[in-house]
Amino acid sequence: MLIDAHCHLDAVAFETDRDAVIDAAKAVGVSRFIVPATVRKRWPHVLALGERDDVRICLGLHPYFIEQHHLDDLTALETLINQRLYDAPQTRPVAIGECGIDGRFTDSLDAQWHYFDAQLSIAKRCRLPVVVHCVKVNDKVSQRLHQQALPRAGLVHAFAGSYEQAAKFLDAGYVLGLGGAVTYERAQKLRRVVAALPDDGFVLETDSPDMPLCGYQGQRNEPSRVAQVAKVVAELRGQCLSTVAASSRDNAARVFGLNDHS
Ligand SMILES: [Zn+2]
Repeated sequence: MLIDAHCHLDAVAFETDRDAVIDAAKAVGVSRFIVPATVRKRWPHVLALGERDDVRICLGLHPYFIEQHHLDDLTALETLINQRLYDAPQTRPVAIGECGIDGRFTDSLDAQWHYFDAQLSIAKRCRLPVVVHCVKVNDKVSQRLHQQALPRAGLVHAFAGSYEQAAKFLDAGYVLGLGGAVTYERAQKLRRVVAALPDDGFVLETDSPDMPLCGYQGQRNEPSRVAQVAKVVAELRGQCLSTVAASSRDNAARVFGLNDHS
């Protein structure tokens, strides 16, 4: 059994064939999907997906869409989270996210840090983990996560960096999301990190519809392809597929507080 620990199934890219995409993933053994949020106006779509038994959701404000956020979105986020924490386990948000810092967009870094810090504070108050988007700022973000010392840590999704940077996130209690990037042979540094990670340090993900795997460039990414990510990760680690799948499943369950009934 596989889990796609990070996929944007609410995306418009899946509007016409979402059920078929989920069925295709199930056909290759993907039985659970963690769906993070991006912008406030998409929260209702994420919440609707959370009604499904096989989907768990996160709520948050993604740094890539910084221009679309308003300060009152932060208040709205905390209010909504608090309302939903009393829901049935199946529809309760399992994390705050996707939040973080995208270092490619230097003009908006101050604003990005404001929204990230605010969401870390919400996570602390609500005792939820965070799903972190971190591009080209691993050192600064891991330092901030160490300082904040959230009660439940979380996931640094689509990790790309050195083993030293990975170790800092692991030290702070976070797990690293491994996705399509590991399928590219040219990603030698990342592949060495994947081989060296401890069994309790990673989860498998796709970031669908983004981050296509090697061989699928230019195409929509889909959760079914987490099976191919698993195969590559197993090869790199010298482990069998079922061991890698079990590690990812157990780590996702620990980080997001999932169990057989939630
Ligand atoms: Zn994402």
